[in-house]
Amino acid sequence: MKSVFDTLAAAGHEQVLFCADEAAGYRGIIAIHSTALGPALGGTRLLRYATDEEALVDALRLSRGMTYKNALAGMDVGGGKAVILRGAEPLDRERLFRAHGRFIERLGGRFITGEDVGTTPADMELIRRETRHVKGLAGEGGDPSPWTARGVLRAMQAAARHRWGSDDLAGRAVAIQGCGSVGSRLAAELHRLGARLIVADVEPERARRVAAELGAAVAPPDAIASAEADIFAPCALGGVLDDRAVQALRAEIVAGAANNQLLEPRHGDALAARGVLYVPDVVANAGGVLSGGADLFGWSRAEVERRVHAIHDTVLLVLEMAKADGAPPHVAAERLAEQRLRDRAAAG
Ligand code: NAD
Repeated sequence: MKSVFDTLAAAGHEQVLFCADEAAGYRGIIAIHSTALGPALGGTRLLRYATDEEALVDALRLSRGMTYKNALAGMDVGGGKAVILRGAEPLDRERLFRAHGRFIERLGGRFITGEDVGTTPADMELIRRETRHVKGLAGEGGDPSPWTARGVLRAMQAAARHRWGSDDLAGRAVAIQGCGSVGSRLAAELHRLGARLIVADVEPERARRVAAELGAAVAPPDAIASAEADIFAPCALGGVLDDRAVQALRAEIVAGAANNQLLEPRHGDALAARGVLYVPDVVANAGGVLSGGADLFGWSRAEVERRVHAIHDTVLLVLEMAKADGAPPHVAAERLAEQRLRDRAAAG
């Protein structure tokens, strides 16, 4: 059987912490994949996992993705991620997030966190009581979701240009899976540009609200991936592009906000084989980390906007590299990220 250290070495992780504060009902994993470009930056997610192994795998995959995402976004930060295992209800969020904050503080700035699935700016305020290594507080950099939504939109426009010769999304049908913070904002931006929308959410009220506001059609959650659409936008959880979804897809482009959309890398190969243009999530959803540049590096709002806008150019570069190399886009994105990490190491 593979040892834990072999598992870490295979994906190139520097450090993984298993943290517990039983009195606070807190169990968490902090995974630091790389600090080569700077302190490891990555959100904290709060989720109920079936097993501890599932939580570990999530933290390892997500933190590695952050290294690539930050490198592709041109950010001088490394990659990390924290997961808090959702336990007994009711949650005492104050004790939970303060316990988490104490563990982050002990890392002395090697890991900087922010909001993610299941956490809010208010939770970040609780972490802040224990450590300053947290971003995305209410009234500070604020909610990254609008920037993530804008970045996904730019990624879609680039993919449309690559596939159909124009950025124009007017009249295109877009199927959005998940009407949460990002999905609902993405829907509003697409509506503004004249796209037709089909939305789904496991919380039916969220899908109904978007439908009522924007005139979107609603699909059952298990049918959204196979909806009759030009673009499929996964904006819920990871792993949605599995064998079934890849075969059922009718869209020509997949571009969305969810992290780790490919269940396994081979699903990226299968999408390419079917002629579906997949925009790698690490490139498409970088708007959120870029918005953190305001707090981290003092970027102005205009600077954040410029960089989120430029996600379009990175997507085009990745898609052109993929075409030139005869490689699927998710492989081309990894190659570009690794090239940027190597260039930085060479530059000292
Ligand atoms: P969110 O929790 O606000 O929204 C997710 C929505 O998806 C919820 O409404 C949930 O009910 C719904 N959902 C869950 N499972 C579903 C399913 N099987 N089918 C349909 N709907 C389902 O999260 P968010 O902030 O909007 O983020 C969405 C995704 O984007 C996540 O994967 C997140 O990791 C990723 N992401 C978010 C940001 C950000 O800035 N918020 C940045 C980068 C990546």
